[in-house]
This record gives sequence, structure tokens and C-alpha cells, in this order.
Amino acid sequence: MNNTILLSEETEEIKKKVKQAFTDPQKIRKNDKGHPDNCVVFAYHKIFNFKNKEQRERDCKSGTIGCVECKEDCTTTMIEYLTPYREKRKELKKNESYVRDILKTGAHKASVETNKTMDEVRNHMKLWLNN
Ligand code: SF4
Repeated sequence: MNNTILLSEETEEIKKKVKQAFTDPQKIRKNDKGHPDNCVVFAYHKIFNFKNKEQRERDCKSGTIGCVECKEDCTTTMIEYLTPYREKRKELKKNESYVRDILKTGAHKASVETNKTMDEVRNHMKLWLNN
């Protein structure tokens, strides 16, 4: 599973994955004009980079940034974005029974609502088996 970034992954793993990610095959040298829409790294920029994704797109297209620098910027942005979620996950992992209780409560609530909805559907469609 090397094409996903998991919340459980450490910073070094994320860095490694972004470093190995496919980029525009036509952008070989730093000054080559790139096609960010053909690049996995730019897809990450689009999701995680709220500060300068438009600038990165212009830089790539004009050949003013190389893939190495662009990947480093992308990694920094992703780590910044993901850190609070990763920390929360670690915290919750220490208290698995609390998480199980939340999931159980949520499943029960969802089941009650689903049954109500299905009763309505059966009533509207006159699908009661005893009729
Ligand atoms: S400069 Fe960035 S967006 Fe452009 S091809 Fe390289 S890694 Fe992708």
C-alpha cells in the first residue's frame, strides 16, 4: 500500500512517500515547463496546500521550481496539516475502550434511525408481510 498517506504514519514515512511520488514525466530538469495536472505531488498540493497551491502551479508551469523543491514544500505542508489529526489519533489509540464505546453508541443510534426510515418506506410501499 505505497500510494496512500496514512494518519498512522510517522513524518519520515510521509517524507519518503512524497519523495518517491510520480511527477510529470515531461518535467525532467528544474527549468522544464511542467504539467501539474499530470503529477501526484500537485494532487497533494491541491488537497493540503491552502497557502500557495496556485503559486506552486504557476511555478511548475513556468519552470521556476524543480520537483525536489516542490516535493519538499508539499511534504512540509502535508505534515503541518496532518499533525493535529495524527496527534489526536495517537491519543485515542491509548484509550481504545473509549473509542469502542463511541462506535457502539453511534451504531445503535444509526440502527434506530435506519429502522424508523425502513418502517416509513414499508408503510409507503405497503410492503408489510402480514397484510
Ligand atoms: S514541479 Fe511540482 S507539480 Fe510540477 S511536476 Fe514537479 S512535483 Fe509536480
